[in-house]
Parts: sequence; C-alpha cells; structure tokens
Amino acid sequence: MTIARDRLRVAVQKSGRLAETSLSLLRRAGLSFRASRDRLFLYGENLPIDVLLVRDDDIPGLLMEGSCELGIVGRNVLAEQRLTALPGTDAPAERLALGFGGCRLSLAVTDGGPITVPAQLDGLRIATSYPGLLADWLAVNGIRAEIVVLSGSVEIAPRLGKADAICDLVSSGATLAANQLHELVAILHSEAVLAASPHPLGSAKAEQVERLCARIEGAQSSDG
Ligand code: ATP
Ligand code: ZN
Repeated sequence: MTIARDRLRVAVQKSGRLAETSLSLLRRAGLSFRASRDRLFLYGENLPIDVLLVRDDDIPGLLMEGSCELGIVGRNVLAEQRLTALPGTDAPAERLALGFGGCRLSLAVTDGGPITVPAQLDGLRIATSYPGLLADWLAVNGIRAEIVVLSGSVEIAPRLGKADAICDLVSSGATLAANQLHELVAILHSEAVLAASPHPLGSAKAEQVERLCARIEGAQSSDG
C-alpha cells in the first residue's frame, strides 16, 4: 500500500552526465527549488513538485514502486529495465524525449582484429552492462554469443582476455579509440527521457503530470 502524497515527485540523477541538464530543464520549465539539508530532495517552492536526487540506475525501480511519478533517465536504462523486469510486471513508460544526453549502445571490437561484421560474433563472448538489450538484439539478429555481464570498465574487457567484443554506451567514440576499439553497429539510440510510473494516478496528479509535461515541452521549444 502506498501512502497518499499530494505533491508530485520527480527522480533525477544526483551527479553524473544527466544531473545538471535535468535540473536546468526543470528550472527552465518554471520550477524553483530549495535543497533539503541532506541533499536528497529539492523541494519545489512555487509548485507542488519535489525532486528526488538518486543514482540513475535506481530511477526505474522508484517509478515501478510508485515512490516517484516521473523520472529523468537515459532511454538505455529504461529499456534495459523493461527487458530484465519480471514477467507480468508493468514497466515505466517513456513520456517525452528530452534531447540531451545523446549516446548509443554499440557493439565494438578490437582495431585490426578479425571481426568485421556482427555475424562473426557467433560463438564468441561479448562483455556488457546491458545484458537485456544485448540478448534481445542478438536474438533478433540470430547471433548466438555468450554475454559476459560487467558492471563497469567494460571497455578494458577485450584487453584482459575476458571478452572478444563489447557492447557499451558510446558518444564521441574517444573512450573506444583510447582502448583500441571501434564500433561495429549501434543497437540502441539513446537520450535522456522523461519516464512515467506505471501506477495509475488520481485525476489531480494526472493533471499535474500533464501540466509539467507541457511546461517541459514549452522549455524545450524555446531552446532554439
Ligand atoms: P550514477 O552514479 O547515477 O549511477 P552512471 O555512472 O551510471 O551514474 P553516467 O555516466 O552519469 O551514469 O551516465 C548517465 C547516462 O548518460 C547514461 O545512462 C546515458 O544515457 C547517458 N550518456 C550519454 N553519453 C554517454 C557516454 N558517452 N557514456 C555513458 N553514458 C552516456
Ligand atoms: Zn548508473
């Protein structure tokens, strides 16, 4: 059972690539905040909307359990959560694409190595932090590879002999290049999105969500 809460709660990354732009978007949408002493919350001063500052990986779970109505998170995190959620559970949905935090989840292989097309990954090992998205793409493409799940430093796995290829987030490609890797194919195009809890909302909150979305869209279109 969830305790009734009048104010809308939006989960935002506390620190990292999306943190600053997420908050500046909310500010441009007309919200103003004051931080709680422990820096966990930003309390909305002019609207009944509070921000919860968390690790991005926690955002889908907070939406699933209904602790937050909305969250700003990479599409990659949201899509991975959807693919790895228990069957029958409702996953958070993407409400708005936000146009920042752009990147792609790509398969990458060692420069000058024998692999030049994805089909050659059949029977090989691929290191990733996105086993759900990778397994899905491999199944669709009829490639049978072993997925090696790593929580970080995926790009060094080939050099350590832990994997033959990687599937990781890429933006400029500089990290890949620094590790003598290059992209083979992008399996997901990502950006920051506004995600919504799968829990049904009462009419007052549903209306607040609609108004906030409209404000965010307004802030985006005035970006130029
Ligand atoms: P947290 O401490 O919140 O768990 P994190 O280290 O998991 O942070 P960041 O590296 O800050 O996350 O990335 C957050 C999001 O930024 C990613 O999920 C992705 O959507 C986006 N992003 C954009 N460009 C890149 C990139 N080059 N590498 C990784 N993520 C990127
Ligand atoms: Zn994270």
